[in-house]
Amino acid sequence: MLHAMFSQCPCSGDGSGGGSGISPWLILLAFAGVWFLARYIWNKKGVSVMGKMGKIAIVIALVGAVGVVVAIRGSKPGGPSSPPAALPRLVDLGSTTCIPCKLMAPILEELKKEYAGRMQVEFIDVAENPDAGKPYRIKLIPTQVFFDASGKELWRHEGFIAKEDILAKWKELGVSFATGTAAASQPASAPAFERLEPAKADTRAKDAICYMCDRDIDAKTLVVVKSDKGDVRLCSPHCYFIMYSCLTEDKAGFEKKVSVTDWTTGMVIPGTTGFYLYGLDDKTGRPTVKAFADKGAAIQERQATGGSIVGWETLQGKELAARCGFCDRAVYPEDGALVRAEGLYTWGCCSHCALGVAGRTGKDIEVHERDRLTGEEIIVKTANGSVASIQPATAVAWFGLRKGADGKFASAGCFHQGFFVSADNLRQWVEKNPLETGRLITIHQALADKMKLTPQQIQKACKIGECAPK
Ligand SMILES: [Zn+2]
Ligand SMILES: [Zn+2]
Repeated sequence: MLHAMFSQCPCSGDGSGGGSGISPWLILLAFAGVWFLARYIWNKKGVSVMGKMGKIAIVIALVGAVGVVVAIRGSKPGGPSSPPAALPRLVDLGSTTCIPCKLMAPILEELKKEYAGRMQVEFIDVAENPDAGKPYRIKLIPTQVFFDASGKELWRHEGFIAKEDILAKWKELGVSFATGTAAASQPASAPAFERLEPAKADTRAKDAICYMCDRDIDAKTLVVVKSDKGDVRLCSPHCYFIMYSCLTEDKAGFEKKVSVTDWTTGMVIPGTTGFYLYGLDDKTGRPTVKAFADKGAAIQERQATGGSIVGWETLQGKELAARCGFCDRAVYPEDGALVRAEGLYTWGCCSHCALGVAGRTGKDIEVHERDRLTGEEIIVKTANGSVASIQPATAVAWFGLRKGADGKFASAGCFHQGFFVSADNLRQWVEKNPLETGRLITIHQALADKMKLTPQQIQKACKIGECAPK
C-alpha cells in the first residue's frame, strides 16, 4: 500500500544535515560541559590569581558556545518548519477552504498550545504549497500523519478527526504526553471511575417508587395506570405522560386505564374527569400540574398560586408537545438538554439522548447541557459523528447502568444519565446519590455509543421494555 511505502519522516529525507547532523542533545551537552567547567574555575579558590584575563577567557568561551548552538540550529536544513527537538509530530495536510479542514484548524491550535514542548503540530496547506505536501503522498484532504520522536510514521487518518480521537490514538500508539498538568485534565485520559453496586440498599417499598423516574412518590400527585401485570405507579402526571410517550403498544383508549389523585382530598379519580391546574414554577419555569375532582377546588387553589385550569385533553396536548429529538419521549425543556441541529432546535430528554440526535439525524449538532451537580453549562459540538469540541474541555459523562435480572449491566435509563464539568463534580454527585450505579465515560465515548446504533435500534431506543428503569 501507499501508506506502507512511506515510513520515514520526509524532513529527515531531504537535505543531508537534518537527521544525521549534530543532535540538539549533543549541543546542549557540550554547552552544559563548558558551563560547569566555567563555574568550577570561577568558584575555585585562587581565581583571583587568574585575574581579569581568566574571567574574560571564560566569558568568551561561553559566548562562543552559545554562538555555535545558534549557528548550527539556524543553518539546519528544512528551516523553521523542521522539528526543534525530537518530539512526536502531528502533521495535518489540508487547505483553508475545505469544510473538514476548517474544522481541524481550531483543534490543531488547541493541541499546539496545550502540548507546546511535548508534541509538534504542523499544518501544511497543500492547495497553496503542493510541493510541501508531496512527500506525504496523501490521497485526500484533510489527512493527519502521526510520527514518533524519531520521525517514523506511526499512523495516518483521512478526513476530520476530533481532538479526543487524536489524543486517544497517541495513547494507543504508546506515545505519552503526560506531565501531570495539561494532559492529566484531558477527558481522553480521565481517570476510570465507576460504582456498580449502590452505596446503600434501596429499602423503599416498591409501591412508593415512581415506575419512570425512580424517585419517591408524593401521595398528592400519584398517578396509577392499570395494566395486565398489575398497577403501575407514577410520581406525577408528567411521569405518566413520559411513559405514555414511549409505549410501543396500541394506545387507543389508553386514558381509561389512568387514575390521578385529587390535590385537596387525596382521593383517586379517573384521569379524564379531572380539572388540572397548570402553572409554572417561579424559579425554573418548569410546569407544575395539580389534579382536582372538583372545578371549584381548582379555582380556589388558582387564587393562591395562579395558573390555568385545563381538561385532560389539553393537558395531554401540552405534555406531549415537546419531545426528545432522539427517543421521542415527552420532555420538559427545563429538564432536558437543548440541541441545535443545523439551525433547528430540539431537546434531549437526557444528555446521552441529546448526543443521539447526531446519530438519528446524521447532522452536526450542538448540545447545551447542565452539570447535574452545579448546573454549570457544558457545550458539546459534533462534526461528522465525532466530538469536535467540548466546553469546558474537562467535562465528562456519567453512564448510568443497572444490573438486570440476567446479571448483565444495561443502561439505567434516561433519568440516570448526565454530564459534569469535571470528573470531580461527577464523583461528588455520585456520593450524594447513593443509589446511582454506573461509570464515568468520556463524552466522546457517549457519542460514539450513539453513532453505532442502527436506525432500527434508534427506533426502539428508550421505549418501554428497552431501557425502562425496571
Ligand atoms: Zn417519576
Ligand atoms: Zn430521550
